[in-house]
Amino acid sequence: MSKIVLTYDDGPDTRWTLPLLEVLERHNVRATFFMIGRFVATRPEIARAVASAGHAIGNHTFNHPDLTRLFTDTQIDDELEQCERALTHVVGAHSNLFRPPYGWSNPKVENVALLRGLKMVKWDADGEDWILPKSAKDVERLIASKVHTDSIVLLHDGYHEEIGADRSASVEATELLISRYKREGFEFVQCW
Ligand SMILES: [Zn+2]
Repeated sequence: MSKIVLTYDDGPDTRWTLPLLEVLERHNVRATFFMIGRFVATRPEIARAVASAGHAIGNHTFNHPDLTRLFTDTQIDDELEQCERALTHVVGAHSNLFRPPYGWSNPKVENVALLRGLKMVKWDADGEDWILPKSAKDVERLIASKVHTDSIVLLHDGYHEEIGADRSASVEATELLISRYKREGFEFVQCW
């Protein structure tokens, strides 16, 4: 059976994360959320709602910098550690998954993550839902053009630069994608 993984970056967001959880819940689909530590710290109740709904939560750094531009291993590690701390404090036990901001990494970033016991996860089907304006149909079409078997889909429930940026297309596209891929016989799984 073909598998598909839905991943959501840059939350938790005050406006969009909870509506997204409703869609996932309605279809009984578990997804993977890569959260920004400073948003977890300021919106703990939303991060906890994601965790208690059974979704996997991974590290997306504390401040969302381009890690490849940080000069020292310590600076990179600080970003990972601060996010780990925020996640542990707010949701407790969580996954060891890590996604670098923008998906950008280099051997130095990979090594620091490895030493910290984190597993780096990127994607192969980008919905480009961060380039707006875009309709849910546009997002669905883009993803469908890239999905194969065992694809990891990238969507966003937040935006690293501001709270409440429009993610309506992302939430709506989730509905479309779940219907489409359930119909096509895919199994929705979390990152592993
Ligand atoms: Zn991001």
